[in-house]
Amino acid sequence: MFESIIDSNRLFLVAGPCSAESQEQLDETCQALMATGRVDLLRCGVWKPRTRPGGFEGCGEEALKWIAELKRLHGNWRFAIEVVTPRHVELALQYGIDALWIGARTTGNPFLVSELAQALQSNPVPVMVKNPLNADATLWAGAIERLLQAGVCDIAAIHRGFSISSPIQTELRNDPVWRIPIELRSMLPAIPLLCDPSHLTGCSDKIAECSQTALNLDFNGLMVECHIHPEKALTDAQQQLTPEGLSQVLKSLRHRPHTAAAPLELTILRERLNLVDNDLLKLIAQRLDISREIAIVKDANNLTTYQPSQWNSKLQNLLLEAKNIGLKEQFAKDIFDRLHLESIRVQEEQRSEGALGS
Ligand code: PEP
Ligand code: MN
Repeated sequence: MFESIIDSNRLFLVAGPCSAESQEQLDETCQALMATGRVDLLRCGVWKPRTRPGGFEGCGEEALKWIAELKRLHGNWRFAIEVVTPRHVELALQYGIDALWIGARTTGNPFLVSELAQALQSNPVPVMVKNPLNADATLWAGAIERLLQAGVCDIAAIHRGFSISSPIQTELRNDPVWRIPIELRSMLPAIPLLCDPSHLTGCSDKIAECSQTALNLDFNGLMVECHIHPEKALTDAQQQLTPEGLSQVLKSLRHRPHTAAAPLELTILRERLNLVDNDLLKLIAQRLDISREIAIVKDANNLTTYQPSQWNSKLQNLLLEAKNIGLKEQFAKDIFDRLHLESIRVQEEQRSEGALGS
């Protein structure tokens, strides 16, 4: 199911309600979605992992019966559901579910992922793996590798954003940290990457913008939550689109085929970037050479390697300068904090080499 989408220029689309609530709700939503002619795979939650107890936790096996019935009635409908335990996998296979996904709360648990992989070993179906709640590309890749090792080869990854830990208010439900899916792609280049703008943004108005960002970053598809009456949804009401809303979003998106050839202008600009990057590397090496000399002087004068007040006042000047030339302060701070840490590391290295030599 997912193998061919990495090289295709088509957007792979998974859509459907957050939860299967009744056979009618599921049927009406899926009919309208399939009528768009754009949906490859229908989604619905059957067992809902909820943050707090007491909410709607899904209809379980009952919902699997509705799906089996709808698949019987509409021969070409394919469904994906979330599985959390090996028992879920067993039931999903029993009811002929076409694909599964592993949710964000499960991906971060290697034992659970191994159990799911084992449950799939004798009868692998396509699996989508959402990112774990914390921004850790290795943990995400690890879950995919566990499935691959068990012989589950038809896999896609889904980026749904990360739990927000910073107290800084953000308008999104989850933090996109776009560098993490980019890192995953470089670790596992053959695994197609989908974006779930619904859970990422938590807001139906922001889905178009988030989806466009994903397409600009070379994602291969989307998983979007849609409900025939979003306002009545039992879960995630604020983020679900109507099927009509989904069509509008799809119309607004600019899909950029990855086979498009780079124009000469872009090649020239990239060359210019390369020259600047090489200069940056040389400057960083020069900076570290000076740090080593500083370490020798500090050692001779019995001074500590880290001098907080000196660093803080220097950093303030640098940040002012950064602002004056139009750089974001936080960006400049991140870079200089990192350079400073490396400077401390080489100074310590220099001091211990000096001590060994004396
Ligand atoms: C879902 O897709 O319905 C879901 C619960 O997502 P996540 O695991 O990303 O929170
Ligand atoms: Mn949901």
